[in-house]
Amino acid sequence: MTTGLIYDDRFLDHDTGPGHPERPDRLRAIVSALQASGMWNQLVLLAFGPATHAQLQRLHPESYIHRVHDACVAGLPYIDVPDSAISEGSAEIAALATGGVLRATEAVMRGEVSNAFCAIRPPGHHAERDRSMGFCLFGHVALAAESLITDHGLSRVAIVDFDVHHGNGTQRLLEHRSDILFISVHEHPDHQYPGTGYEYEIGIGEGEGATLNIPLPSGSDDLAYRAVFDQTILPKLEAFAPEFVLCSAGFDAATADPLGGMRLSTDGFVEITRKVQDVANRHAQGRIVSVLEGGYDLDALAAGVCGHINVLMESDVGGTDIIDR
Ligand SMILES: [Zn+2]
Repeated sequence: MTTGLIYDDRFLDHDTGPGHPERPDRLRAIVSALQASGMWNQLVLLAFGPATHAQLQRLHPESYIHRVHDACVAGLPYIDVPDSAISEGSAEIAALATGGVLRATEAVMRGEVSNAFCAIRPPGHHAERDRSMGFCLFGHVALAAESLITDHGLSRVAIVDFDVHHGNGTQRLLEHRSDILFISVHEHPDHQYPGTGYEYEIGIGEGEGATLNIPLPSGSDDLAYRAVFDQTILPKLEAFAPEFVLCSAGFDAATADPLGGMRLSTDGFVEITRKVQDVANRHAQGRIVSVLEGGYDLDALAAGVCGHINVLMESDVGGTDIIDR
């Protein structure tokens, strides 16, 4: 079984300025750790280009796409909110990141690889329809889910977002639909950015019931995550029976993370990855594309990503037993 990797050195050129936590060193740390572990050589590097404006316009208005582009080219320091720092090439790089995620989903659908991880930046799960939030410009994962329905003919796609922050952008872009299940487990919005993701946010209209928010108290550890996955997330996924699983993989719930207030260990990230993969194996032929979101302590980020990818590489499609090393 093979795992695909989306990565491009151009992602390093998205310059967020001095002191910004969402910095190029995040990807450098991931690449170094993958190389040092020997995993890099076992991954299938997928070639890809930027998403077209037409692809971005599936969920973002043309006016917003142009506004992002113009702000970057004009040399503005940020767009919409100071958190969302930009540099000259950031619009193109964000479109490249979306293109990478779309390519990963295509590669999995075609059977070129069993599953894939996208080591991209800027991240995407805070980007709303027509405004940037929280370091994010375009909603990569939401766009990939939409593409799986529209371009690949699937009927049920699940998104599992375990970033420490609520995936408000993904939710807002998809909350009216019943064919895409969005699950976000995150630090409680009373105490954490972006201040949304309460239990009562369950989707809108036809999409009611296809959004599941699980806010956890600050300080939640591996055992707390295990409990919510076993008692709430996995039953919801089982009932939905997704044909494809997308992960918004943030590693800022790690104990050492400077932005998150949780206490998840590397083993904790491995365990939740196994749980998601088990569902994907049973319902979705093992089809998973996981997309990097946050994670700001370089060591915890690199260790978490390596543990996460290591599980993806153990993929046992069609089986129910996960190899326990
Ligand atoms: Zn985050």
